[in-house]
Amino acid sequence: MKKKALLIALALAGSATVSGQTSDQPEPGREEKSITNEGADRSELTDNGLSHEIDKTTIIDSLQAIRKDPASVKFHSAMCYDMSMPPVDTTFICPACGEETKYYAASFMGKVADLVPYLNRSFKQAKVKIDADFSDFCSKCCKDASKEPELKFTTHCLDCGQTFDWKATKFEELDQLSLLFLSFPITEVNQGQIGTEKIEPEKLSEYLSNRFLCPLCRDKHGLK
Ligand SMILES: [Zn+2]
Ligand SMILES: [Zn+2]
Repeated sequence: MKKKALLIALALAGSATVSGQTSDQPEPGREEKSITNEGADRSELTDNGLSHEIDKTTIIDSLQAIRKDPASVKFHSAMCYDMSMPPVDTTFICPACGEETKYYAASFMGKVADLVPYLNRSFKQAKVKIDADFSDFCSKCCKDASKEPELKFTTHCLDCGQTFDWKATKFEELDQLSLLFLSFPITEVNQGQIGTEKIEPEKLSEYLSNRFLCPLCRDKHGLK
């Protein structure tokens, strides 16, 4: 009886390991409720091992190459039109406390609300550690409701690990966030639907440098 229990325990441990290692590419369209299980995917960032060093070099080299020649990246737009009527309201579910706050779907707040699962999933798999602070959008966590809500981020510098803050306060900045999850070296950028350009090619390297590297490291790598 004891032996059987042990076997089951081993089987469970085995399946847990396997499921913990899956690494799907982030897809904006897919819903995901669970935003826990941090840490597990972070190991390669914190241990500063060889794979992270290779990633770091790849990313910095790519940013320098794009800065020199923005035309080396192919920017294209997908011919896809969403014909369905968007819902009027959307619900922000606070990743910190679980409180639900309703927003007009077409507003900045509504768009943030819809991005929460995608952003949390993508940041978890990103090569650069970036923490998102959604507290301004939660009716419970918000510290100053009279202020315009801001989507705040803290980056742990890809090179030196120092943290620095930045934020997104406009619609177009929300569209640009997907640029953070491009795979390196960057060879192409999907601009989304025609007419809604995310970024000018000349600005791509600067945009990513300012969000991946602290001011000192930007300077050091000629990415200022
Ligand atoms: Zn909250
Ligand atoms: Zn740095």
